[in-house]
Amino acid sequence: MDSNLRIVLVGTQHPGNIGSAARAMKTMGLSRLVLVAPLRFPHAEADALAAGAQDVLAAAEIHDSLADAIADCRLVIATTARQRTVPMPDLSARAAAQQLCEASAQGQVALVFGRERTGLENEELRRCHAAVTLPAHPDYSSLNVAAAVQILAYELRLARLAVADTGDASAPQDPELHPAEHRELEAFFAHLSAYLAEIDFHKGHSPEIVEQRLRRLFMRAQPAPRELRILRGILSDSQRLLRGIPPRCR
Ligand code: SAH
Repeated sequence: MDSNLRIVLVGTQHPGNIGSAARAMKTMGLSRLVLVAPLRFPHAEADALAAGAQDVLAAAEIHDSLADAIADCRLVIATTARQRTVPMPDLSARAAAQQLCEASAQGQVALVFGRERTGLENEELRRCHAAVTLPAHPDYSSLNVAAAVQILAYELRLARLAVADTGDASAPQDPELHPAEHRELEAFFAHLSAYLAEIDFHKGHSPEIVEQRLRRLFMRAQPAPRELRILRGILSDSQRLLRGIPPRCR
């Protein structure tokens, strides 16, 4: 699980929080930290707060965008402090940990944390399969990001220990059915979006809501790469017909 599961911190403003998150991870046996456009990193405050988890910081990967940070992931779960405008399935921390633990046996997975001040942007949330909101007190429900990492890392630890205890890993799945990677899914969404524009599906309306719903449908289905190839083949063939080019032979 460990190397297949990454903790992604997006746009962290305080380097101390990156250090504290690294420490929270290491205490729970996690080591793969991925940073998206951190404001200040590397930084002495990150080192100081990481304490004995300097190795986690030293190995942290840095990316410019969330899309790059999760390109090869087959399951991506967000964490958010508040009501979102992006409709997506809600998971408890426990259920999320369980799903991540199971899916990490088959491929790369990610758990994503947002900026201290503003959390995750809608464009980032849309890339995630589900979201976890810890049921904190409604008067003050926003945890420090490293504290949120600690709680989720603890749940991941429990999920992993339960598997180790009972030997009850989920049955190995047919690799053909493993969900596609984020980048493959995004390429499909881009193709679908171009196709809908080409057939003038939106009739002058904004494509946003329809595309969001389609995104949700396909993310819920978690199509496998071969299934995505069939869908893209259908789009490509109808695009050829629309353009008066005969479809290719299969
Ligand atoms: N004002 C921001 C707070 C962000 S807190 C907002 O409204 O979104 C920084 C990050 O810590 C969040 O993006 C999330 O990843 C995590 N976090 C904080 N409180 C949380 C909670 N109650 N449940 C889940 N994640 C939380």
